[in-house]
Amino acid sequence: MGHDTTRDSQGDAAASRSASRDLLTLGTVMAALVLLIGTGSTVVPNAIATLAGRGTEPDNLLATTFLLNIALIVFGWRRYRDLVGEVRERRNAEEQARILAETDPLTGCLNRRSIGPATDRLIADASSRGEVVAFIMLDLDNFKQVNDLHGHASGDALLNETARRISRLLPSGGQLARIGGDEFACIVPFISSQYEAIDRLAEKLIEAVAEPLVIDTLSIEASISIGVTRSDTDGARHSAQALLHMADIAMYHAKKHGRNRHYWFEASMESELRFRSELETGIRRGLANDEFVPYYEKQIDLATGDLVGFEMLARWNSPSLGVVSPELFITIAEEIGVIAQLSEMLIRKAIGDARTWNPQLTLSVNISPVQLRDPWFAQKLLKLLVEGNFPPSRFEIEVTESCLHENIGLVRSMITSLKNQGIRVSLDDFGTGYSSLSQLRSLPFDRIKIDRSFVTNLPENKESATIVKTIAALGKGLGLPITVEGVENEAVLRELSRYGTFKAQGYLYGFPEPSDRTAAELAQLNLLLEAPIPSDDDADYGSNDRAALG
Ligand code: C2E
Ligand code: CA
Ligand code: CA
Repeated sequence: MGHDTTRDSQGDAAASRSASRDLLTLGTVMAALVLLIGTGSTVVPNAIATLAGRGTEPDNLLATTFLLNIALIVFGWRRYRDLVGEVRERRNAEEQARILAETDPLTGCLNRRSIGPATDRLIADASSRGEVVAFIMLDLDNFKQVNDLHGHASGDALLNETARRISRLLPSGGQLARIGGDEFACIVPFISSQYEAIDRLAEKLIEAVAEPLVIDTLSIEASISIGVTRSDTDGARHSAQALLHMADIAMYHAKKHGRNRHYWFEASMESELRFRSELETGIRRGLANDEFVPYYEKQIDLATGDLVGFEMLARWNSPSLGVVSPELFITIAEEIGVIAQLSEMLIRKAIGDARTWNPQLTLSVNISPVQLRDPWFAQKLLKLLVEGNFPPSRFEIEVTESCLHENIGLVRSMITSLKNQGIRVSLDDFGTGYSSLSQLRSLPFDRIKIDRSFVTNLPENKESATIVKTIAALGKGLGLPITVEGVENEAVLRELSRYGTFKAQGYLYGFPEPSDRTAAELAQLNLLLEAPIPSDDDADYGSNDRAALG
């Protein structure tokens, strides 16, 4: 265990004060002893002689001094003994308080407060031997889940066991601290050139934590992400605070890159993290400033060659970054909890646009798995359609297979209720996930969309061809129509025509376009309404609907 030097020097002062008091008491006792021997040599023979009846009267003064001395010795000795006991107790209490202040009560390792001083001391020690220190940050990947699923007692058991497993693997001189709910930090001295030893340690730590923890009949599986940095990063010597910051960034990097792994800190990670946090701020600001807009991608019926509808694809008109792809902002919007707000806003705009299109044309929108977790999702969607006075039969949502792994019961009832309202539901990105055939049959989808990753290279890639062929047969068997996305050229189209009839999307028909360009194209095709359907927002229309909605 580490300790604090200021507290030590205070303790030393107190100890030396009581030590000098001990000395004083001991001195008094010794002086009394000397006196006793001095006076005793005269008094004792006198007293014996008197008792034997052959001596003179004993000297009264001397006798009194003699007795006083005996008393002094007895009391002094007791006092001395008491004092020594007192000091020992005080020392124990202080040690106890120090240990309490420095350790985490649950796991018994160091706590967050003491990791700083412990690191500074270890660095000083190590550098006196020509060594450096690795600062290792460890974070459990699924602790919240364990807590939520199995209760806090299991969570505590997991933390305890994790601390035990880490401690067991630490080389001598290494120290472990728990610095947050499910965050640990290790400091380990090592020889500067032998950083592979730290890599091996990190790998062993990951392996050890991955061993399932069995509590009664329960088997808990956990993993950790690890970030590592060294006290001499970039040749400079860093404070404990700076090391913690760097290791934290590396740990975050490990989380982002699949968890259950370790990364050494690199300066580029910091800029990546800064970019990510700027994106977060930008997305929030963009939402407030109305910077997100719908783009539209054409959907073609290959049997007739007709334009049958559009898929809405989100774009972010960022003032600093330009037009940003949803690939960059959808996941972040999900993680920072604004995806529903963003999606609803886009759907409202898209409905407004689609109202001006020929009523034969449909509108498809992508729905995040996060939105499907909301029990009110179906109601919210219907409200948008009612407000926009848009017929549900022209509306389609696309959900990905990952939705199916979440609460399948909830998803099923949601899809059923949407379908009862006339909305169609397609299974997006089919083939990239793990949806089983039985799931596909048990869920009332209206359509399958084959992911573009199997389509763009169709003529040259045999595997892709097999997959597309199989999905086409599957669709036929289940009576599900299929949309093929990512059709970039005529060669793909020719290949597709050998497998069946599909709806198709892709760059062959043009890139996704914003609202005004889409409208201009539709006008050329004579597919734009002269008098668009009025919406609920238009003053003279639908006041009854609004009243009904409350
Ligand atoms: P997705 O649903 O698979 O959408 C198709 C993506 O493929 C679009 O990318 C589109 O621009 C692109 N694409 C279309 N034709 C071709 C082609 O011929 N070749 C190639 N290589 N690519 C083609 P985009 O617009 O960047 O969207 C990416 C993903 O972002 C979408 O994949 C969708 O999953 C998600 N997304 C877009 N808008 C939204 C939204 O409003 N909400 C949610 N939750 N997700 C959205
Ligand atoms: Ca889609
Ligand atoms: Ca796709």
